Amino acid sequence: MPELPEVETIVRGLRGILPGRRIVELRAGKIQVVRDPAALGERVAGSRFRSIRRVGKFLHLELEPLAPEHEALHLVIHLGMTGQLRVVDANEAIEPHTHVFFMLDDGRELRFRDPRRFGRVLLATGTAMEGMFKNLGADPLNAGEDEFRAQIGGRRARIKALLLDQHVFRGMGNIYADESLWRAKIHPARLAANLKADEVKRLHAAVRGILEEAIALKGSSVSDYVGADGQRGEFQMRHRVYQREGEKCFRCRTEIRRVIIAGRSSHFCPTCQPVPRSKTRNRKSKKPAKRPRQRLRSKTQAASRSLSRAKNQKRAR
Ligand code: ZN
Repeated sequence: MPELPEVETIVRGLRGILPGRRIVELRAGKIQVVRDPAALGERVAGSRFRSIRRVGKFLHLELEPLAPEHEALHLVIHLGMTGQLRVVDANEAIEPHTHVFFMLDDGRELRFRDPRRFGRVLLATGTAMEGMFKNLGADPLNAGEDEFRAQIGGRRARIKALLLDQHVFRGMGNIYADESLWRAKIHPARLAANLKADEVKRLHAAVRGILEEAIALKGSSVSDYVGADGQRGEFQMRHRVYQREGEKCFRCRTEIRRVIIAGRSSHFCPTCQPVPRSKTRNRKSKKPAKRPRQRLRSKTQAASRSLSRAKNQKRAR
């Protein structure tokens, strides 16, 4: 959180305000979200915003060079878990946890607020900015079916893990991965390589459809998320599985369950999204049997491992 639809909503909001506006001054608190606030302030003061776009979950704000011989600078902002980026009147009361203020030439301010401080505001040259983005995967909002298929095709990884992997699809996160898998009726622990052609087709359509619907409703406000105008999103009202553990499936009334996959909570309907069958297990059994791992470690090691596993499971709940 925030994921692709939330960042896209903020980008669209800022696009109507910032291009052409000059940064009069930048103020930043002594915090980790900005690496070197003094240098940042010095270098961006006087610059105008040229363009704003979304790259995965990043916001990329391009600044016009101060003089023709200067290199264009780029602000790259990641909202982390609780980041907010709003344009407000400079006289508006400052909310707690507001860390960065871009004072604009029209009397307004672009403010970056982040209670949990996992967000980042970076200033980069064009080369550095491209370096940051070059390993990101396909944009799931724009990826056609062939590109989508190519990204996951043949991968022996769980589909949920692939959807969350920013090197595979940039911008997807837990909410929209769970919602897409429910709509496509695919269990989150299925191996991508085992998905049938029509399942991949369904998942692609579900991902695109859900992201588009979420953007139309200005994202999901499940924690601190608000758009650039301070408005909350409304897509959380349409969530079908995310954070609905124990509630009834909207399709079949089965109770929604939660498992941990790739270290993250995955919400699914056990009826609509059947667990992967033992096809993979059978295939594995044809390989020469490995020496049982149990024999390699002592009884105490095994006991402590199973204890910590039980603890982890407990914690995950
Ligand atoms: Zn169901």
